[in-house]
Amino acid sequence: MRIIDRIYIDGEFVAPHGEEVFDLINPADSRVIGKVTLGDREDTLRAIAAAKRAFPAFSRTSKAERIELLRRLDAAVTPKLEALNAATTLEYGAPVMIARMLNGYAMGAFKNAAEVLEAYDFTRRINDAEVVMEPLGVVGIIPPWNSNVGFSCGKLAMAIAAGCTSVIKPSEMSAIQTQVLVEALHEAGLPPGVFNVVNGRGEVVGAELSVNPDIAKISFTGSTAVGKAILRAGAETMKRVTLELGGKSPTVILDDADFAQAVPLAVMAGFGNSGQACIAGTRILVPEARLDEFLPMIKAAAESVKVGDPSDPTVQIGPMVSLRQWERVQGYIRKGMEGGARLLTGGPGRPEGLEAGYFVRPTVFADVTNDMTIAREEIFGPVLSVIAYRTEAEAIEIANDTPYGLQAYVISADLDRARIVASHLAAGRILINGLYHEPLAPFGGFKQSGLGREMGVFGLEAHLEPKTVLGLPRV
Ligand code: NAD
Repeated sequence: MRIIDRIYIDGEFVAPHGEEVFDLINPADSRVIGKVTLGDREDTLRAIAAAKRAFPAFSRTSKAERIELLRRLDAAVTPKLEALNAATTLEYGAPVMIARMLNGYAMGAFKNAAEVLEAYDFTRRINDAEVVMEPLGVVGIIPPWNSNVGFSCGKLAMAIAAGCTSVIKPSEMSAIQTQVLVEALHEAGLPPGVFNVVNGRGEVVGAELSVNPDIAKISFTGSTAVGKAILRAGAETMKRVTLELGGKSPTVILDDADFAQAVPLAVMAGFGNSGQACIAGTRILVPEARLDEFLPMIKAAAESVKVGDPSDPTVQIGPMVSLRQWERVQGYIRKGMEGGARLLTGGPGRPEGLEAGYFVRPTVFADVTNDMTIAREEIFGPVLSVIAYRTEAEAIEIANDTPYGLQAYVISADLDRARIVASHLAAGRILINGLYHEPLAPFGGFKQSGLGREMGVFGLEAHLEPKTVLGLPRV
């Protein structure tokens, strides 16, 4: 049993003022594995005050000093990779290979930020003006449970690169992962107050960060509903925001695609991270003329995916993070069946032999139309919809007919064709014929998938404010 009863303020692990104790549950067997004491509004105010005190000196550190700090953070977290992977599998239920991937990206965040900083010029000249990019102030960092460490590291690394200080409110369901991470970050010996971490509920700690006048920016990853609430709450103090929100990504399979390649790819794009992924390709668009060929192949591919104990390295789909999330996914499977879609494989209930945890049967629906609830709303579980289209123009229309626009996948035998289709899709990232990631390229959504971009130079500039100085001699 892990007992986590400290939060991190001003460079020290301290007892929170908050007294609520929250159970941490292993989603693979529904047993309580730990208890975390949650911080409250008073704790949040203390953390904000510490970050505010640290800001004037930190914002004036040189680029070289911050690169050195980022390197120290990188050196401190890298040896903890195995411990983080174990915590992610235990507490979140991430299959071993997913935990490795998520935390692997997280560990790279400090090195990537140092690389971006190295190449970045904070001062530029525009005719008679000198334009200086200045750090915004204190950043409130709010990550979700589906990659708590990943988003905590990515957001913190960019805040530090920019010269901002921060208060992190991790997901309350990820306290064991957070503890491993914060102990490692502490080892790097940053000046007190540069980053502070308050475990707590979104409606308490997150809500205070969203309204507090001493918070200049919120960097949030989570649901679109909470993202909108943060945007509204932050309007009064004109907070800068970066919002990485939900998705309902299309996988557009063109009529020339090799299905031997396209089917496994579509399944992986949809079921990755046990379907608990904002970027999941959950709407699979298939040419009507080739549907009879496609459906048996995707049924077989979905049925060959191994679901089970996430600590088994051969398992591809683990449990849902919580009972609440399991019930939500079950609700969508029922809605799919009631709404007229045809269940191709999977369905309600738990897979055989996995009754103790929050496991879902990998589910694929056929005969889905884009107006059905399962095609419109983010399910956040291993549930895919196959939607038929007649022409390429119709495929593009269906792909874009969604309030979301985070990611899209295009599969074709002809790269030029795929590129043209990609140019018509309204999404922040388009992946052609594969699953890729480029950590220095911008990441974020069109439409209601978010506001702003993270990563690389775009992520750095999202923490900076341009100041124009006039009256200086011409250079
Ligand atoms: P969530 O929106 O419920 O919670 C996200 C975070 O916000 C948590 O730390 C939570 O405690 C906090 N929070 C909740 N209410 C709050 C409030 N009123 N004010 C401030 N903070 C509050 O999301 P989740 O269930 O943790 O994560 C799943 C969601 O995240 C999905 O919708 C998924 O698509 C999205 N997501 C998006 C991306 C992306 O990069 N676009 C990546 C991963 C997950």
